[in-house]
Amino acid sequence: MMVIGLTGGIGSGKTTVAGFFKEKGIAVYIADDAGKRLLETSEKIREQVIALLGQKAYNDHTPNRKYIASIVFNDTEKLEALNSIIHPAVASDFEIWKTKQTSVYVIYEAAILFESGGYRKCDYNILVTANKEERLKRLQQRDQSTIEEIEARMARQWSDEKKKKLADFEIQNHDLALARSKVDELHEILLKRGKN
Ligand code: ATP
Repeated sequence: MMVIGLTGGIGSGKTTVAGFFKEKGIAVYIADDAGKRLLETSEKIREQVIALLGQKAYNDHTPNRKYIASIVFNDTEKLEALNSIIHPAVASDFEIWKTKQTSVYVIYEAAILFESGGYRKCDYNILVTANKEERLKRLQQRDQSTIEEIEARMARQWSDEKKKKLADFEIQNHDLALARSKVDELHEILLKRGKN
């Protein structure tokens, strides 16, 4: 089965675009949601995260997200170590999920698809883009975050210029109707490639 990676900077509209593929009957796996779920449910991950970040990382069996974020936000080594616990678990969860899907191709949505190297496992990769001002506006509305918080998160992701070099397709998401018609167009291309 063909796997299509879907990524984009925060607020670019990845999840919105993934929804357009879903409407076409394409199965969508959201890696970030799976990571959060596994952090909550996997005993093995809980043990590894506590070994890395300390007992405070969990309140009993509930991950203490604020605490975890506060540590890894300023400590790249710890962030990488945390990712090296979660990413392999997500990868095997995805492999199991994939075997149950019946669409011609599936979408693998991840925020750091290029940064993590995950794109190499995908047959094609799609980058969703929108300009910075628009993304800031959307995220301020959606998350009630401050501009400083959003810019700090943006600064940790690769620039679109760098990601574009690795992407096979780009979906510009300024106008929703235009983004949707780009999805229509790509869907036809991918169906053909998936059947060959
Ligand atoms: P994150 O990485 O932060 O999860 P994302 O890339 O998945 O973000 P979405 O959650 O899809 O982005 O979109 C961010 C917000 O912007 C949402 O509230 C969404 O409804 C809105 N949005 C997405 N696309 C557009 C658009 N073309 N025009 C206006 N608003 C949009």
